[in-house]
Amino acid sequence: MPKFQAPRGTRDLLPRERAVFLHLEEAARDLAVRYGYAPIETPMFEGAEVYERGVGEVTDVVEKELFRVQAGRGDSERERWALRPEPTAGITRAYLQHGMRTWPQPVKLSMTGPMFRYDRPQAGRYRQFWQFDVEAIGDAGPAIDAEIIELAVAFFASVGLADVGVLVNSIGDATCRPAYVEALAGHFREHAAELPELERARLETNPLRLLDSKAEPMQPLIESAPTITEHLCGECRTHFDGLLSHLEALAIEPRISATLVRGLDYYTRTAFEFYRAGAEGQQQALGGGGRYDGLVESLGGQPTPGIGFGIGLDRVVLALADQDATPLSEPWKPVVVVVGADPEDTIVRLQLATELRGAGLACRPDLTSRRLGKQIDGAARAGAHFAVICGDELDAGNVQVRDLMAGTQRPVDVTELARDLTRAHTQHRHGEEG
Ligand code: AMP
Repeated sequence: MPKFQAPRGTRDLLPRERAVFLHLEEAARDLAVRYGYAPIETPMFEGAEVYERGVGEVTDVVEKELFRVQAGRGDSERERWALRPEPTAGITRAYLQHGMRTWPQPVKLSMTGPMFRYDRPQAGRYRQFWQFDVEAIGDAGPAIDAEIIELAVAFFASVGLADVGVLVNSIGDATCRPAYVEALAGHFREHAAELPELERARLETNPLRLLDSKAEPMQPLIESAPTITEHLCGECRTHFDGLLSHLEALAIEPRISATLVRGLDYYTRTAFEFYRAGAEGQQQALGGGGRYDGLVESLGGQPTPGIGFGIGLDRVVLALADQDATPLSEPWKPVVVVVGADPEDTIVRLQLATELRGAGLACRPDLTSRRLGKQIDGAARAGAHFAVICGDELDAGNVQVRDLMAGTQRPVDVTELARDLTRAHTQHRHGEEG
C-alpha cells in the first residue's frame, strides 16, 4: 500500500465519478438559474463563531464535528477558524456583510461545493462531502417554502432519481416552541433513568435533539413523546396549513413527520427532508432544509425570515448507482486520434490535432515514436472513433481516415477533414441513439 493515502473519511473523485458529480452540479446550476437563484461562493472556512452562533453550540455539527483550523505555527493571527460544515451560516454572514437587505427581497442564492464534518466515516457519511444548496432570504412564506421543496423534487427528477419522498414538519417558533420543549423535557425526565448518557446530558441543554436520537432505547420513548403538532401556535399552524395547500397545488404529496426536527438550532416552522422510498427515517437523508427565521438575528442582523435546503450530492451519486442509473459519459475520451506514418514526425500530428480541436473535436495526437500499427492500436484502445493517418499523401493535401468502429478507411482532403469527421461522428451517434 502506498505510504500516503487520502485522509480518512475523504476520497478522490476519479474521472468517471467526477464526471457524474459534474453532471449533477450542472443540473443543479441549470435548475437554480431557472428558478431565479443567483450563484454565490463563500469561503470554505469562516470564523468559528459564525458556525457556533449560526448553527448552534449544542449541536453535533458544532460540538463534535467542526473541523477547527489552526493557523500556521508562529502566525500572529490567532483567530479561531473552522471549515464550513454547511453553507447557510456562511451565506447569511455574507448577506449581512454586503448589506443584501437593501437588495430586492427575497435574496435568492445558490451554491454547490464541498462541506466538512469531523464525523465517524461510514457509507454515505464522509468528512468532506458535496452539497447543492439554495437559500431564499427575506420571504416569510409559506408559498416560497413550497417552491423550494418543489425545486428539490425537480432536481431529483432531473438527474433521474426515482421515488424520492418528502417528509415535512413544522417545528414552531419562539412563541410556541418553548412550551413544547418544556413538555418534551418533562416527558423525557420521567424516563431519565432509561436514557443513555449522551441523551441525558442533552436533556438539559437541547431536549429537542432527543427526537433525533438513533439510540435503540430511545425509540419507544420518542414514539410516546408529545408532538410539536399539538403545540403549534395559531400563526405557526396557519403557516403549516399554507405550506401543505401550496404543496398540494404543486402535486407534491409529503408525509408529515412529527419527529422531524433537524439537527440545527436556527430552524423555525417548516422543516423537511428527502428520502429514497423505503429509507425514510434512516440516517441516509438525500437532503433536507427548512426555515430559519432566527438566523440573521443571531448573526447580528435585523429579524429576517429565510429558508433553504442542502442536498448531499454524494448520497445522490450512491442512490443513482444503487438504481443502476449512473449517467455514463466520458467526454474526455478522444473522438479522433492523429497518428503518423513517420514515427519521428510529431510536429505534423500536433499541428493537425490542434486544428481539429479548434474546430470543436475532442482530439488527441499520438506523440510517441512507435510504429504506425501500434499507434492505430492505441487509438482503438483509447476508445476513439477515428484514427487520422498522416503519411506521404499529405504533400498532396490528403490524409487517410480510418473509422475504428466500422473498420473502414478512406482518403479525405485535409481542408475538409474537420467538417467530414464532425459529420461522420454525429451521424454515427444518432445511429446509436436511434
Ligand atoms: P444536514 O445539514 O445535516 O441536514 O445535511 C444535508 C444533507 O447533506 C444530508 O441530507 C446529506 O445528504 C448530506 N450530508 C450531511 N452530512 C454528510 C456527510 N457526513 N457525508 C455525506 N453527506 C452528508
